[in-house]
Amino acid sequence: MRLVLLGAPGAGKGTQAKRIASKYNIAHISTGDLLRDEVKKNTQLGIRANEYMEQGTLVPDELIIEMIKRILENDSSKTGFLMDGFPRTLNQAEKFDKMLKGLGLSIDKVINLHVDEEKLVKRLAARRVCQSCNKIFSLANYDGSPEICPYCGGKLYKRKDDQEDVIKQRLKVYEKQTKPLIDYYKKNGLLDDVDGDGSEDKVMERILSVI
Ligand code: AMP
Repeated sequence: MRLVLLGAPGAGKGTQAKRIASKYNIAHISTGDLLRDEVKKNTQLGIRANEYMEQGTLVPDELIIEMIKRILENDSSKTGFLMDGFPRTLNQAEKFDKMLKGLGLSIDKVINLHVDEEKLVKRLAARRVCQSCNKIFSLANYDGSPEICPYCGGKLYKRKDDQEDVIKQRLKVYEKQTKPLIDYYKKNGLLDDVDGDGSEDKVMERILSVI
């Protein structure tokens, strides 16, 4: 199965993507996670990408396309994948279609997670990520320590791009560059809208009902 998960920053893509990929035993491909990994390792790609990521703007298409090309050539994505945070521009979507066509593959479904902007801002400001197990969760509905992961005991951190000024920029970028993808995938009949508001379990239930 080959899926694409669309949605604004904070819509819950990362959280749901992990669950869907694990349920269907397909590769979870998060371009944001891959880029953060490159930044951590201080690679050439990481150094270039970080300039954009810190400002809340998009990393240039050619760098992202190159990264996706390498992944699609890798065996682990052959049995299926869930794209999380890719494509993010019309150009990326068109290049992705061409790449898949060249491999004799196609997308089965695009899920668009929808959440109101006011809620997105609140969610992003309260979001924390575990440095060790990468679990994402919200301090908004959590009574434990805001610094220690309750799952593995790792250290929790707030992403640099979850600061208020960067959040605003990311939402603007989403509106202008990524939202047009909704129509792009609607036109080719692949898109299902899913309400991303509510508990993780509830949203997962809705996603499963459209897959
Ligand atoms: P995310 O974790 O998906 O919110 O991505 C974090 C940041 O990584 C974004 O704000 C962008 O700077 C960059 N990024 C992730 N995916 C893409 C993509 N497909 N195209 C361009 N930039 C991306």
